[in-house]
Amino acid sequence: MINKITIVFFLLISCISKNNVKENVEEVFSIVIHGGAGTMSRNTMTEEIKKQYIDKLDEAVSAGYRILKNGGSSQEAVEKTIIIMEDSPLFNAGKGAVLNYEGNVELDASFMNGKSLNAGAISGSSSIKNPISAAISVMKNSPHVMLSGAGADEFANNQKLVLQPNSYFIINRRLNSLKSAKSKENPSNNLEQKIGTVGCVALDKYGNISAGTSTGGMTNKRWNRIGDVPIIGSGTYANNKTCGVSTTGWGEFFIRSVAAYDISALMEYKGLTVSEASKIVIHEKIAKLGGNGGVIALDVKGNVAMEMNTEGMYRAHMDSRGNKKIKIFRED
Ligand code: ASP
Repeated sequence: MINKITIVFFLLISCISKNNVKENVEEVFSIVIHGGAGTMSRNTMTEEIKKQYIDKLDEAVSAGYRILKNGGSSQEAVEKTIIIMEDSPLFNAGKGAVLNYEGNVELDASFMNGKSLNAGAISGSSSIKNPISAAISVMKNSPHVMLSGAGADEFANNQKLVLQPNSYFIINRRLNSLKSAKSKENPSNNLEQKIGTVGCVALDKYGNISAGTSTGGMTNKRWNRIGDVPIIGSGTYANNKTCGVSTTGWGEFFIRSVAAYDISALMEYKGLTVSEASKIVIHEKIAKLGGNGGVIALDVKGNVAMEMNTEGMYRAHMDSRGNKKIKIFRED
């Protein structure tokens, strides 16, 4: 009799402690987004415009957070979050993207999966409504990593992705920026003209990191210029061993610095934290070359970095506990 009572007692204790262990294991997930880095001033940004950006960043980061909280993949979170920003005319991606020399929109985007190290990208599209979805389709449904121009548009059409006439993407604000860029001596220097690229890095409950970036590139670009965004390792990188990265800024410098991969490599080979690695790439490597911009990154534990050498970067972050940060200026 005593033995039976003892066994039941021990079973009960072990059951209770098992449940406690389960409750104490926190599921880690995290999401960080950017809406471009560049020249911005508190004096010229009206409260109304500031609110529009903050509300849209909030909508986007919260949508991605909900997907991750409900057990969705980091890939799904990155795609849905970026679509919200591509569809908003506030950003230089999808609708509202900047205009090239001829007054047309040419879109670049890329995506990378940190588990498989699979990646996809499109560049110079003139009609894909949501370039981030096309980048993911290139990764999933083609034997290639990057498709460009009319070929990218044809592929997207075959994939039944939504296409739009170029006029859908064009907004007045960008027409004015093009005019003013053309009247300046060295328009490619003016980061103000190209602010608004969007990016997202997410870590899901299963420990998988994904990263994506989408842009219209630089105002007044010519000759089918391609920036850093669709180049895996420059504008976007993800590796479950280290981190996921999305960059924004003067693309030529991010290409020459292989910026996104460099952050991962500094972590992998030098053992730096995601924050240390991001600081070195933005403030030492890119800044020394004369480039400007910013980066968002997440490591496998959900640690976040949001670094810039510009006056500001539209950015937002949420952790698994639902803590939310939305910031615009560097010193925010
Ligand atoms: N990096 C983008 C490009 O050069 C522009 C930006 O992020 O603002 O195409």
